[in-house]
Amino acid sequence: MSPTYGAVVRPIKHPEFYADVHMVEIQIENTLFRVDINGLRRQAKVLEDVFSIPPSVATGQPEEGTAENPIQFTGLVTVDDFAAFLTWVGRNDERPVPQDPQILIAILRVSHMWHAPKAFEDVKYQIEWLNLPHAQMVELGLQYNIDEWVTTAIPILVKAPLNTFTDLAVSQIGPTAFRMIAKSRETLTTQRNLIATVPLIPSDYRPLPHCSSHSRCLHVWKERWIMLVVMEIIHPTRPIPLTSIPGLITASAYPGMTPHCKEDFVRLMLASQRLGVEEKIWDGTVNAILRHYNILA
Ligand SMILES: [Zn+2]
Repeated sequence: MSPTYGAVVRPIKHPEFYADVHMVEIQIENTLFRVDINGLRRQAKVLEDVFSIPPSVATGQPEEGTAENPIQFTGLVTVDDFAAFLTWVGRNDERPVPQDPQILIAILRVSHMWHAPKAFEDVKYQIEWLNLPHAQMVELGLQYNIDEWVTTAIPILVKAPLNTFTDLAVSQIGPTAFRMIAKSRETLTTQRNLIATVPLIPSDYRPLPHCSSHSRCLHVWKERWIMLVVMEIIHPTRPIPLTSIPGLITASAYPGMTPHCKEDFVRLMLASQRLGVEEKIWDGTVNAILRHYNILA
């Protein structure tokens, strides 16, 4: 069809190069922003919903979103958080989002609040590379429903020395979780002391028929227990994990003890599963804390 002279031909928007921008003025406290609201709506479900409601135009009032009548965001978001979110929305190769924990956490907070899944997933990934303290990761995971941050950090915290928990860390994981960790540590110490003070000899142990000097074997075993194993269990800074004791014994010399008897003792020690008590206490504490956080059913 050829254009008709004299008739008005309605132009069409170019599919790629017709910028869909709508600049509006937004006020937060005493700060004005001038932003493309369409760009924001595309990112955040909450804003999409808010701005799809046609504005009520009161007669005599200047249009909403102009300098005379800015859209009020005061109370919805802070100036810094909104600025951080805009940094993400306007990011490009020349101006990437700064790898600053405060900015990334602000974007996480806003994207969580406004249901902006792309921004949320993106900064979540970036925060994981920051190596923030474990207690802070627990706090953020709980605040923004990121369970994997909590389930990753808690097993590490359960094993961390109690004197490494600052007041801030305790407030981040919560006093109840900290009490659970402290309590489990006491149970653990009792169990370790019990194992240290009573050399592990299975009660049903019968000497092997080929051993002609078994009373000497028992003597060496007990002596080495005190001089070697106990020292490692009660070590003030690097206490040995209980499950590493069989390996320590196997690798150490037991002069005077029949090698077969030593091997047999280690085998029975492993079979008794008593050394697994430490792992059981750790696992139990992790599960109790996750249940307390309502992460584990
Ligand atoms: Zn023996």
